[in-house]
Amino acid sequence: MSKINRKQDALDYHSQGRPGKIEVVPTKPTNSQRDLTLAYSPGVAEPCLRIADNVDDVYKYTAKGNLVAVISNGTAVLGLGDIGPEAGKPVMEGKGLLFKIFADIDVFDLELNTKDVDEFVRIVKALEPTFGGINLEDIKAPECFEIERRLKAEMNIPVMHDDQHGTAIISAAALLNACEIQKKKLDKVTIVINGAGAAAISCARLYVSLGAKKENMVMVDRSGVIRADREKLDEIKAEFATKRKINTLAEAMKDSDVFIGLSTSDVLTPQMLKTMARNPIVFAMANPNPEIAYDLAVSARKDVIMATGRSDYPNQVNNVLGFPYIFRGAMDVRATGINEEMKIAAVKAIAELAKKTVPEAVNLAYNKKNIKFGKDYIIPKPNDPRLITSVSLAVAQAAIESGVARKTITNWQAYADELSH
Ligand code: NAP
Ligand code: MG
Repeated sequence: MSKINRKQDALDYHSQGRPGKIEVVPTKPTNSQRDLTLAYSPGVAEPCLRIADNVDDVYKYTAKGNLVAVISNGTAVLGLGDIGPEAGKPVMEGKGLLFKIFADIDVFDLELNTKDVDEFVRIVKALEPTFGGINLEDIKAPECFEIERRLKAEMNIPVMHDDQHGTAIISAAALLNACEIQKKKLDKVTIVINGAGAAAISCARLYVSLGAKKENMVMVDRSGVIRADREKLDEIKAEFATKRKINTLAEAMKDSDVFIGLSTSDVLTPQMLKTMARNPIVFAMANPNPEIAYDLAVSARKDVIMATGRSDYPNQVNNVLGFPYIFRGAMDVRATGINEEMKIAAVKAIAELAKKTVPEAVNLAYNKKNIKFGKDYIIPKPNDPRLITSVSLAVAQAAIESGVARKTITNWQAYADELSH
């Protein structure tokens, strides 16, 4: 399909029929006058009174428990930057669509006209009665860090900034598997992280949680290697500043085991790749074009494991492997938040799933005969129907075990069956 066609197709897709991508659909009968008196006045007063008596009954009588707010101020939309809340709306509606089709979670997308951290936090906090979970989306760094930190502390429902943690979880699962295939140990590998924004910082933090060593990491931003002796180093970047006396990406790449790209296109050269250690791992995740093109990377190094954010090459690091199922699991046990244990449970569930025999439906969807765990398949494909059971179950279990669940599950088989229907 030519680029021009694709652009027009995308515009038509959004504008034809009822504009946009989502609508609200009643879940109860509405055919008779009786139905309407139950749905609205006077019948509706009964659940109101129950909830007034016991606020937890809001989960019993309303849609709260299955409703996520996808909230953005449009300041870091895809790779498009600060294009404003209205321009971000198609993305947020799209996220709603993905939540629905992959995990049957309903979404209201909310685009807020504010760049002020205090105001943003105040608005979102006040929405807690409506929603079972909050997915923060496409908010620029560094504001996104403070917004998420404060909302997590002040709210009693799961809050997750997906650009940070979704990417971290999926890429961590891919990294665990890539290390296994390349016979490397996460606590020994040297990791170069190009980018120091929302995604990069959160990835680095999660890799550390999983055993990677900060002293083996070098983070690089627009000004070069982030060194501990850099002037005017902000607090968040300082967390990953190196003591090594190097300045450039090229210097950092020499003898490194892992490259994590969360920056911008075409900044990694084949020459740099050639200086990496044996059996290197390269995750070039900048969208829409990676830090190094897939073909360039694999022709520079026959021994590389390569992943990108793109669907047209193997090993796509795609957040959709995570967020629908993480929220599903968290909300099904009414978790008060999404903690480190739950994220790590998601990482491990995704990593493990890639090692299991791939269902025929997945092979067929990709027009392949025998997709198998290995260099070109280190993480599951987005259409894998087992993701919901594997990931949601693991997250729910971790929530219960770590003490943040307000509801427990005892019959796990019944829960798994319910999820797969
Ligand atoms: P962000 O918060 O804006 O951060 C971008 C970071 O990249 C900044 O730290 C910036 O440096 C750095 N950077 C830009 N150009 C650079 C260069 N030439 N060399 C070194 N560093 C450079 O954005 P983000 O949300 O973290 O996303 C970053 C990239 O990752 C985007 O391309 C995004 O599409 C991609 N991404 C992919 C996935 C996926 O699943 N595949 C998920 C999330 C994000 P300064 O701090 O100096 O400005
Ligand atoms: Mg996003």
